[in-house]
Amino acid sequence: MRDLDCDVLVIGGGPAGSTAAALLARRGRDVVLIEKSAHPRFHIGESLLPRNLALLERLGVAEAVHAIGVFKPGAEFVSDTCGRSVAFPFRLALAGGAAHSYQVRRSDFDKILFDNATSSGARGFERVRATDIERHAGHSIVTVRSESGTNSRITARYVLDASGRDSFLAARRGNRQADKRNNTASVYAHYRDVAPRDAAMTGYISIHLAQDGWFWVIPLPDGVTSVGFVGTQAAFRARHGDNAGFLDARIAASPTLRARLAGATRCSEVTATGNYSYRAARSWDGNVCMIGDAFAFVDPMFSSGVLMAMTAGELGAQTADAWLDDPARGRILAARAERRLVAAIDRISWLIYRINDPVLRALFMSPRNTLRMRDGLVSLLAGNLDRDLRSMLPVLAFKSVYRVARGADRLRRAWRRLPRTVARQSDLQDRVA
Ligand SMILES: Cc1cc2nc3c(=O)[nH]c(=O)nc-3n(C[C@H](O)[C@H](O)[C@H](O)COP(=O)(O)OP(=O)(O)OC[C@H]3O[C@@H](n4cnc5c(N)ncnc54)[C@H](O)[C@@H]3O)c2cc1C
Repeated sequence: MRDLDCDVLVIGGGPAGSTAAALLARRGRDVVLIEKSAHPRFHIGESLLPRNLALLERLGVAEAVHAIGVFKPGAEFVSDTCGRSVAFPFRLALAGGAAHSYQVRRSDFDKILFDNATSSGARGFERVRATDIERHAGHSIVTVRSESGTNSRITARYVLDASGRDSFLAARRGNRQADKRNNTASVYAHYRDVAPRDAAMTGYISIHLAQDGWFWVIPLPDGVTSVGFVGTQAAFRARHGDNAGFLDARIAASPTLRARLAGATRCSEVTATGNYSYRAARSWDGNVCMIGDAFAFVDPMFSSGVLMAMTAGELGAQTADAWLDDPARGRILAARAERRLVAAIDRISWLIYRINDPVLRALFMSPRNTLRMRDGLVSLLAGNLDRDLRSMLPVLAFKSVYRVARGADRLRRAWRRLPRTVARQSDLQDRVA
């Protein structure tokens, strides 16, 4: 690869980068998109949300995704404690929009998005990795290395970092902060012959709630099912042996999942990923901006990653486009985009932080639709993460019910402990006397 000049350099050809590159190229910007691997390549993150569909339409890839995806009408939660399953069909979501989504092999999905960016006019380069960046007034010079080991320099007026969990810029600046309240890890693989759900639940993602974590079960095309365990650090510390042995042991320990996988065989390697949620201190600085996982990552329980990454890609494209004509306007849009994304992350994190709490789980597993609380939860599960009063008020009601239930639970436990506490105190008094 030779040295290049461009308006915008996008580092990373995943959902965030390819979305941004396509939209900028269509606005007539000279865009270079580099990807360190080559599509199609494996990636985790296979379950999409209804809110993503409008964006896929805007990109012009909705039909192509429909062709490679498994139709996903909702999400179900299955409790290992009570054995019950609760369905959250997307058609109940309050804020409107699509009532379904898809589950995809990310190798196929990401290739569609990358090809869409190049056919929209972006200059795409695969097997090219960004290794360094020099910032100058009004432009940056990014050093890139191709697979053969040759270095080149790309001079860009604006840089979008879409490098995913590598966090090219944030790692370099040392300002990526781990979220200590969600320090989980995961281990996952693909299976064949997983028992199908009954007809009414075909295509649903299943989330099995285990004691110290949860599993995803995602139906993919061609009879393949993606299964993964996301657990607390304590769950992972207790593991013996390799990743495959650990995943087998976790499945065996879950009565609900064990039953579903009784006749299944693994058809892929077992992969592990650690250190979950994080956020960079800021998503932008002058003419550089981080989008998608390069800026922030939230635990995947609600399948929000691809939606958030593509939304950030769209906002990043608007920001870069504005900045190229008027940097002051670009700064306003960058700050606005960051506020929107951080608010969405905070909204989903509230649930994620509490998902191992038995009180929240009990409410989740018997959702009442008083004050439309259940439909509000469905809206969140469908990806309505923006400030929208119709779905926000029911979610606020759900949070209030949770707080009251949690307070009552604490009182109940203190009340049960009371005789022991009184006995201990009188024993102490006797000894002092
Ligand atoms: C265990 C797990 C399960 C998940 N499940 C879901 C799910 O079910 N649904 C969902 O929506 N999300 C899920 N996610 C999240 C989802 O995978 C991500 O949020 C999403 O892929 C982010 O897209 P992105 O474009 O920001 O980053 P990525 O998809 O990671 O793309 C970044 C790209 O940048 C490239 N790159 C990296 N560094 C460089 C460099 N220096 N130079 C050039 N290229 C570079 C990488 O090769 C990669 O192709 C899950 C994540 C994990 C860890």
